[in-house]
Amino acid sequence: MQLKFDNDRVLAVVAHPDDAELLCAGTLARAKADGAAIAICVMCRGDKGQSDPLADNIGDIRSAEMHAAAKILGAELYETGFGDGELFDGYDQRKVLMEVFRRFKPTLVLAHSRKDYHPDHQQSSALAEAASWFCASEGHRTESPAMEAGPPTLWWMDTINMASFEPGFFIDVSEYLQLKLEMLDCHKSQLARGNDADFSPLADLLKDQSKARGNQAGVGAAEAFQLHTAWKRASAW
Ligand SMILES: [Zn+2]
Repeated sequence: MQLKFDNDRVLAVVAHPDDAELLCAGTLARAKADGAAIAICVMCRGDKGQSDPLADNIGDIRSAEMHAAAKILGAELYETGFGDGELFDGYDQRKVLMEVFRRFKPTLVLAHSRKDYHPDHQQSSALAEAASWFCASEGHRTESPAMEAGPPTLWWMDTINMASFEPGFFIDVSEYLQLKLEMLDCHKSQLARGNDADFSPLADLLKDQSKARGNQAGVGAAEAFQLHTAWKRASAW
């Protein structure tokens, strides 16, 4: 069985500029190859993710790195511009993300798992779930009108390093592992942190995780997801 994304509009909602590479870029690439429209919404600027020497404009540097990576993937990019550690699930923040949904009109949203390790990932997860429901509700006003098609389907992404995440299904991204690495290579400011005691070498993490999920699914490389199976939220494929 091979899932086809040809009629889809797939939006990944991630916390930081380099999260999509690790968790969902292969799936986005496959969707695009099928003919889907794809986009990434990055919630935080990555403005505090740096090592010595400190750069004053790290948020701008990371935004430029993210644009370069999105260009390789061929994805539209939305940036909501919240500061690292300053992202909370509040109504104003929900409305910012609702407006992104109403502009891109996703049929499928990929969101961080609630169990992911980082507080910004957890808040992004809660915001994506809330926005994916309220984007279709006329009572919640933003600049653009409510999505007529109704709430998009929601898939939870794997966690960084696979901790506390039981895969529901796998997407074979063997053909796109190299693309994921090329995208990751755009994030020079983060790759430079590879020797920090509190930071894993990202390329190794990406390869190890993609191959480990691939091993579980009998393919070279895979990305793992769970369906959001709440009332009115799952789709048949
Ligand atoms: Zn992150």
